[in-house]
Amino acid sequence: MGRKFFVGGNWKCNGTSDEVKKIVTLLNEAEVPSEDDVEVVVSPPFVFLRMVKSLLRPDFSIAAQNCWVRKGGAFTGEVSAEMLVNLGIPWVILGHSERRLLLNESNEFVGDKVAYALSQGLKVIACVGETLEQRESGSTMAVVAVQTKAIAERVLNWSNIVLAYEPVWAIGTGKVATPAQAQEVHYELRKWLHENAGAEVAATTRIIYGGSVNGANCKELAAKPDVDGFLVGGASLKPEFIDIIKSST
Ligand code: PEP
Repeated sequence: MGRKFFVGGNWKCNGTSDEVKKIVTLLNEAEVPSEDDVEVVVSPPFVFLRMVKSLLRPDFSIAAQNCWVRKGGAFTGEVSAEMLVNLGIPWVILGHSERRLLLNESNEFVGDKVAYALSQGLKVIACVGETLEQRESGSTMAVVAVQTKAIAERVLNWSNIVLAYEPVWAIGTGKVATPAQAQEVHYELRKWLHENAGAEVAATTRIIYGGSVNGANCKELAAKPDVDGFLVGGASLKPEFIDIIKSST
């Protein structure tokens, strides 16, 4: 079975309720491919999850941008996987580089979060990616392999994971990876999955690209055989997100 194209919109820490309503209206009015062909998941800040859930068209889905590493309790400021499930939110983004780098989330912590979120029934967009320094020193594959290994060591069933390759140097910088650069890492990641998680996991797991994807560069990236979709930041707040949703068709 083919891997269904996946387009995620990471709204990050942006928006007022009025702005969020405007984005949802834009999405709701858009003509896009059928959900049989493209899976669309948008990720508003926690405080807007309930509102977006009540307004968003039913063929699009919703992700939280993070969740706590284990069962909720005395963890001030955190939001647990159980709460997301209770709210009817099916997806969560984990291991985004902004959290890894700004909030010091380690590979192991991210791996634990992925395992716990899955155990509670959430689907996970798990992010990996190298910094510019790591790319320039030739360690891109070693870095993403270690990040992926921390997940693979804790997870046996990959059917509810989408792996997002997001080079840190391309996130929010306007400096997109070339289609060849993205394809190279996606190919290597799939090979890594084949060797470490099995042929079935490698063949079926969607590996999506994130990093300055926009309406102008998405088609060429989407044409690469191991690019199964996108995680989009800045452009997911703009009308061009619709073009990105359509990029595989
Ligand atoms: C992201 O934050 O996941 C991302 C890819 O951001 P941008 O598209 O703005 O580079």
